[in-house]
Amino acid sequence: MPRYDYIIAGAGASGLSLLMRMIESGKFSDKKILLVDRAPKTVNDRTWCFWEQGKGFFEEIVYRQWQKLSFISDAYFSLLEMGDYHYKMIRGIDFYEFCFARIKQQPNIEIKYGELKFVENSHLTRIYIDDTELKVGSATVFNSISRKEQSTRKTIRLLQHFKGWIIETPHNAFDPGAATLMDFRPQQNHGTTFVYVLPLAPNRALVEYTLFTGSLLEQHEYKRELEIYIREQLGLSDYAIVEEEFGIIPMTNARFPFYDRGVYYIGTAGGQTKASTGYTFQFIQKQSQQIVERLVNGQSIQTLPPPPPRFRFYDSVLLQVLSERKLEGKEVFTHLFKKNKASSIFKFLDNESTIGEELKLISTLPTGPFFMAALRQFS
Ligand SMILES: Cc1cc2nc3c(=O)[nH]c(=O)nc-3n(C[C@H](O)[C@H](O)[C@H](O)COP(=O)(O)OP(=O)(O)OC[C@H]3O[C@@H](n4cnc5c(N)ncnc54)[C@H](O)[C@@H]3O)c2cc1C
Repeated sequence: MPRYDYIIAGAGASGLSLLMRMIESGKFSDKKILLVDRAPKTVNDRTWCFWEQGKGFFEEIVYRQWQKLSFISDAYFSLLEMGDYHYKMIRGIDFYEFCFARIKQQPNIEIKYGELKFVENSHLTRIYIDDTELKVGSATVFNSISRKEQSTRKTIRLLQHFKGWIIETPHNAFDPGAATLMDFRPQQNHGTTFVYVLPLAPNRALVEYTLFTGSLLEQHEYKRELEIYIREQLGLSDYAIVEEEFGIIPMTNARFPFYDRGVYYIGTAGGQTKASTGYTFQFIQKQSQQIVERLVNGQSIQTLPPPPPRFRFYDSVLLQVLSERKLEGKEVFTHLFKKNKASSIFKFLDNESTIGEELKLISTLPTGPFFMAALRQFS
């Protein structure tokens, strides 16, 4: 019967980021590690975009990056002041192939495929793979497959849902050096709605129609809106759809405990999705780094330092404003990007700003709706 030191449930962004850092540290080669997922990663099931200063841990597989980023809302157009930030894209399939190529060279890592189930009782969690119990023994278990959120009456839930097409045009139609981060010109009937355009080549771009709302649309509605945007805003009628992406990211201020009944929760399951934006990839990187540093230094990981609580409060207030539509998301983001440098906004959204920087940023937003939403958080 194999005894594992570490079990990593889920070979997605967080499971693989953690494992890659463990390998990179060189300190776990004498440890037996099990990685489990339901199936091998053979398709490009998502692309991750994020902003970053300098080179990141996965720099080798950054597919495209942009330093010219624009924000558009009705007649307002702004080329963002990015400072040292680059907006980067990593394709899911490149990430999986890169990680598995490295993982398969490690004799101490076993990979299993099967359907995982975590069953909790009062003090421990049992793990099943295809209904056969996995003997966990004293292994440290990291789980990215199931969410363990804790809700209260103040819990707010929105969904970030999006459909993206990679389109190809017969003639050059895009500037591969310049991307659109948010274009709020589409109809706002359902709530916060924008499109982003990431050119991949002069004749190829990812165009993604994105909403922050309470419920999903019918598939034909995303399709119709993409067609309208490409025709009316990009001025294109002749193009082929070469890839399609659909995704849903939970946006919630529910709490996700990092540790519960013998299991450490990572990734979205461990609360690494930023409630007010849905961005997750970079928070996963920070969390993986923290975990591995602590393990290497022989420190406990049960008490990973959380980000300062004020960031949770800001997220809750913004979520509340967006979900109640006291102020349209389009207005919120337009105020933010019109009056602040993108580099300051990125730092704030990364939970890395100082209180002084935050007050400056907050003062550029319409006071009334935010003040009321903040009061609701305290009541
Ligand atoms: C389409 C899409 C695009 C996104 N784009 C961005 C982006 O641009 N930027 C950003 O910051 N965030 C983005 N996100 C949000 C977030 O970064 C991703 O969801 C990210 O993959 C989360 O990592 P994770 O490890 O928590 O979950 P996942 O990457 O989903 O990994 C979970 C793994 O667990 C496996 N699994 C699940 N259930 C079981 C089971 N019962 N048994 C066995 N295995 C199981 C899955 O197969 C998967 O491999 C996106 C999300 C989606 C869905």
